[in-house]
Amino acid sequence: MKKTIFALFFIAAGCAGTNSITYDTSTENLLQFSETIDSDFLRHHLQIIAHDSLEGRDTGMRGQKIAARYLAEFYEDLGFTPKGDNDTWFQHFELNAIATDSLVYTTYHVEGSDSLAINTTVEAPGSYGHYYRTFGGNMPLEGDIVFAGFGVNDYERNIHHLDGDELEDKWVMIFDDIPYVVDGDTLINPRISSNNRMSLILRNYNAKGILLISDQSSANYNEAAERHSRLVANPANLSLRYLQQGQRGQSMPVAELQISPLMAAGILGLGSESDLDAARDSLIKNIHDFRASQTSHYLRYEPYAGPGFLETENVLAYFEGADPELKEEALVLVAHYDHLGIGSPDETGDMIYNGADDNGSGTVALMAVANALNQARQAGYKPKRSVLFLHVSAEEVGLLGSRYYSDHPVIPIENTIANFNADMVGRSDSRNVEAGDTDYVYLIGGDIISSELDSMVVAANERSVNMRIDRHYNNLNDPNQLFRRSDHWNFGRLSIPFVFFFTGLHDNYHRPSDTVDRIEFDKYTRIVQLIYSSTIKVTNADERPEVDNQEFIDITNRVPR
Ligand SMILES: [Zn+2]
Repeated sequence: MKKTIFALFFIAAGCAGTNSITYDTSTENLLQFSETIDSDFLRHHLQIIAHDSLEGRDTGMRGQKIAARYLAEFYEDLGFTPKGDNDTWFQHFELNAIATDSLVYTTYHVEGSDSLAINTTVEAPGSYGHYYRTFGGNMPLEGDIVFAGFGVNDYERNIHHLDGDELEDKWVMIFDDIPYVVDGDTLINPRISSNNRMSLILRNYNAKGILLISDQSSANYNEAAERHSRLVANPANLSLRYLQQGQRGQSMPVAELQISPLMAAGILGLGSESDLDAARDSLIKNIHDFRASQTSHYLRYEPYAGPGFLETENVLAYFEGADPELKEEALVLVAHYDHLGIGSPDETGDMIYNGADDNGSGTVALMAVANALNQARQAGYKPKRSVLFLHVSAEEVGLLGSRYYSDHPVIPIENTIANFNADMVGRSDSRNVEAGDTDYVYLIGGDIISSELDSMVVAANERSVNMRIDRHYNNLNDPNQLFRRSDHWNFGRLSIPFVFFFTGLHDNYHRPSDTVDRIEFDKYTRIVQLIYSSTIKVTNADERPEVDNQEFIDITNRVPR
């Protein structure tokens, strides 16, 4: 490539002033700055965005706010224009949430009409006791505790643990693990799974809840309880507050709890954990004789709801075009920077959902495009139209950040000429790995919406990286419906033509193992260069692209505005 463009090319007039610089808007010259995009930049920033200390960038949580500030500082350093609320970088919005601050468990000993609270424990971030919740809603629950052995009826094998004392409206305490095979004998039908045991007890027997006696030692129980306690206050069921969307799932009338071996032993009148092990062994020996039997204990479960809403923010940075009239029009580049936060651990115990590909890759892709544009500007080049860099939050909880933006746009919708979305652009999927060719990018949108926009991206590809464009998902009738499954849809629904850049799903998708070391940096770099080149083509085109596919027009006409 020609290196001459990197020579200083300031055409600054003699006296200072913001209007004193004129820019060269040549497409050919601008396209060459795609070469400034390299894997070192991408790796450096992705390692920060996907770092454990950002705790998975969960919407409304600490890590997401750190990422937002990081993005703001990046654009501040580039000298871009903040386009958020009151000339800040941030567009704030509120979400309804179901949040539990804490769960209080009180165990009573009951004798006749007397009951005595023998233990109260609180489950909250950083504290836990003899119970922890594995599922349950925000409704308080209370009832007698019935011990039901292994919680299984297997009449073929003469096992009747759910028969005996009444289970309706009771807490049913059972051993967590099921002894399917003991000493080579099949004791319990292997088709009876833990899950169908649960639903039988809760639905058919109408129990209030299940207490699973942890099959781990107290030490391991404590470790698991500590891990779970950190998730208690995670907000759930988020929705946009200004849309007054209803809250779902608030009144789950049942719960499933883990109970410590020590508390279970106490309820069964046993002295210690080893007595409990012995009781389990003897239950296996007498598995046919056992029937459910009421204990002399009672449990009250009380969830305390948190504030019920939280605040999050999109980050908006603006790069003004050079043409005095066309600069009023803008291409919006969107990438969500939120992810799933801290959640259930995987096999390795990792609980941080780093989201390197989803969507650290798209986030850093936008930063790299911005950086290349800035280098072009410093050398005296600018495209005619403007670019808005829109980093949205709350994608993983239902595309809420892009929805908020599209209802509160900072560039009028009629001046928004197109949208590019980068969401998961750093990997390859098994479909292409198996076919033996991973030098591809999926384009979704484009010609199923606007043939002109599509041809601009195709031309940009031919002119720059020349990757294989895979249109596998690019069909309005594709069962995956990817044309409406990420943030571009909030532009598409307003008839703004879009292209979604995507490299596909993989085994680490929405798992703690979506980490930076799995990113294919060479390919990722080429995709970002393609996004940059496409950005130049669209912002510099003579005419803005029109939506011209009637089928797509029909779909968007059915969407309520
Ligand atoms: Zn995503």
